[in-house]
Amino acid sequence: MLTRRPLIAGNWKMNFDHLRAVAFVQKIAWTLKDAKFAPTEVEVSVFPPFTDIRSVQTLIESDSLGFAFGAQDLSPFDDGAHTGDVSGEFLAKLNCRYVIIGHSERRQNHHEDDELITAKTKAALRHGLVPVICVGETSDDLDKFGASAVPVGQLRAVLAEIPADSEIVVAYEPVWAIGSGQAATPAQAQDVCAALRSVIAESLSPETADSTRILYGGSVKSGNIASFMREKDVDGALVGGASLDAEEFAKIVQFPRHVIA
Ligand code: PEP
Repeated sequence: MLTRRPLIAGNWKMNFDHLRAVAFVQKIAWTLKDAKFAPTEVEVSVFPPFTDIRSVQTLIESDSLGFAFGAQDLSPFDDGAHTGDVSGEFLAKLNCRYVIIGHSERRQNHHEDDELITAKTKAALRHGLVPVICVGETSDDLDKFGASAVPVGQLRAVLAEIPADSEIVVAYEPVWAIGSGQAATPAQAQDVCAALRSVIAESLSPETADSTRILYGGSVKSGNIASFMREKDVDGALVGGASLDAEEFAKIVQFPRHVIA
């Protein structure tokens, strides 16, 4: 069994212009430096709005901050007449490592379905980006089908169409936990993340299942991250609201200091 390097990912959503983005990344870097925490055992990635990416890239690369960065969405197409879309090719040219795909806000507000999410995942892989595929159940789904059925179905639909050795990240984000202050319990997160890992083993391969990082997302804070990270199938977190507070985000990144096996 491989050791999976934990990933703490900050989804900024539609917050911070490019000037604030630069100041914010500097603040996270200084806070971690003051705490003498080098992001080596934990991978840290930020997901700014499209218009900030070039500025964030320049800062991270010129100051060798050691953070990864990515986009919050991409087009299923590579180029052409798609007004408002952003190609994976352009994101790759900016050295984005990751791209979030199928966040529940896009599934709900932009009516993205499994077919489109699959096409976007394929586009990301075509351009060497690692897709962070978001899945999760609403509270209605939870009542009707339990916790795993919907996220498992959403992931299965995407995995049916990609190569067995694809590098992906999966984010399990119960929709009822996003921005609500009511996180899932670590045991609930573990159950669903284990079910998702089994789907990866069946649909792709056992080796890919072993190496794929599965994140939990939904009201993660510095006070609860350690309890999620003790779970064997939870390999990190996708953090929304708490990723907009540099000190809080830096505390989340330092979770290994608080995890007691
Ligand atoms: C998210 O939107 O991906 C998320 C997990 O948000 P929050 O941490 O605010 O619940």
